[in-house]
Amino acid sequence: MAPKRIVLGTFSHETNVLSNIKTDLSEFRKRHLVHGDEIPAHFRGTKTAAGGLIDGCERNGFEFVETVHASATPSGTITEEAYGHILGALLDGIKAAKPFDGVALHLHGAAVAEGHDDVEGDVLGEVRKLIGKKPLVASFDLHANYTEKMVREADILVGYDTYPHIDEYERAVESVDLLAKMMDGKLKPTRALRQPPMLPALQVQFTGRYPMTKLLDEARRMEQIPGVAAVTVAAGFPWSDIKEAGMSFIVITDNDQRLADSLAQELSDLAWGIRRDFLVKPMPVREALRRVKAAKEGPIVLADIGDNPGGGTPCDGTVVLKAVIEEGLTGGVFGVIWDPIAASKAAKAGPGKEIDVSLGGHTDRLHGKPLKLKALVKRVSDGRWIVKGPMGTGSETDMGLTAVLRVAGNDLIITTKRLQPLDLELYRSQGIEPTDARFIVVKSSVHFRASHEPVAKEIIELDTPGLTSPRLAGFKFRKIRRPIFPLDFEMLGITELKRMDEE
Ligand SMILES: [Zn+2]
Repeated sequence: MAPKRIVLGTFSHETNVLSNIKTDLSEFRKRHLVHGDEIPAHFRGTKTAAGGLIDGCERNGFEFVETVHASATPSGTITEEAYGHILGALLDGIKAAKPFDGVALHLHGAAVAEGHDDVEGDVLGEVRKLIGKKPLVASFDLHANYTEKMVREADILVGYDTYPHIDEYERAVESVDLLAKMMDGKLKPTRALRQPPMLPALQVQFTGRYPMTKLLDEARRMEQIPGVAAVTVAAGFPWSDIKEAGMSFIVITDNDQRLADSLAQELSDLAWGIRRDFLVKPMPVREALRRVKAAKEGPIVLADIGDNPGGGTPCDGTVVLKAVIEEGLTGGVFGVIWDPIAASKAAKAGPGKEIDVSLGGHTDRLHGKPLKLKALVKRVSDGRWIVKGPMGTGSETDMGLTAVLRVAGNDLIITTKRLQPLDLELYRSQGIEPTDARFIVVKSSVHFRASHEPVAKEIIELDTPGLTSPRLAGFKFRKIRRPIFPLDFEMLGITELKRMDEE
């Protein structure tokens, strides 16, 4: 018997519609925009979702046909042109792959394009039109905002169970394993989606602690029940600002709609019951810096959670750096600040030279103003390195032209591309040993924890202003369903409106 043939594709973007960085094709090209047979060379052997799709096929004895792999760093709304190009490449690839037996995609779940609030629902719907009743499975990010259309069009939906996302590979493999079961006639998927009116901020979506552990433990228990194929807990992404943004639960059962419905409802009720535990209390910046001053041992990791490029922010916020300089704190490392102009100025001057820079704060007025500084250029590099830690192990990170600047006794890593510090190799590749630092400032909400927690003496979430601040009531959301917790139910201090350009 000829091996089964599976069509693969990836379209991943977490869209922050409040960001003024438009997501056009060049934003995808900066990360990954790869077509057809070129895709395996980039992802085979990596612990990424795309690597998982390939391995999932191979371990099930499937042949696979690649279509498109498009992923970009989170940013603003995807342009109509970029959406059209990526969807077109996917659909053309599927048509060209005929005959085939099934389709397995990796999607994010929180993408928004011009004219398409529900990108993933629309993509799955277009694929469905092409493939008729053939099985269609997809894996998703934990930040997915699921919609009824997504759950209707796909046969199987599997979301990451972790944030930091250290199981993207495993969930992609799982989606292909479930596809195999479907094709063997061992699974007739029935699906249920439930969405309590909850909009958790990113910090409380961390899966290493309560309250997320409570929901995930329950989901794992449910997966042991006979007839249950997969249970997904999704925390959602507020800044996509679509009607369905927020928390979702999906239960997939084998031909038992009632079981799927009742388990999904049970999870939804459980989450609603502990909703108050999903409030966030970050620490004022100056208070955190006093703690660093008083600390005997480092590194203390300070998370600039308001400016997390992984949530679509500029990555050039200066609020923490300004406070550090004013407090006279030294021995810190900043990973990273996005400033292509400063990086190229440093490269022109070269190591050992002093330069004047107007650093950061270029993108908008929400994350602090540019700082006029004298900086010593310590190092200049092409900013490329291989991930060694648990997130995306083995994949290459490309920060673009990168400089290390010494400013007021602190080392700043200045990059040409926006990125979250996901791995300690980021520092080491730039000649900085992170465990020697007194403190490390990371522009990240939660992902940094996977690699930084093992070396951090303490982690402090800073109450910084910006497009990923947990002060959700401070944003002008237009489309999220209302009422929703915590915006409308209880105003408990932290959710009170605060001007985002305070500090
Ligand atoms: Zn995510």
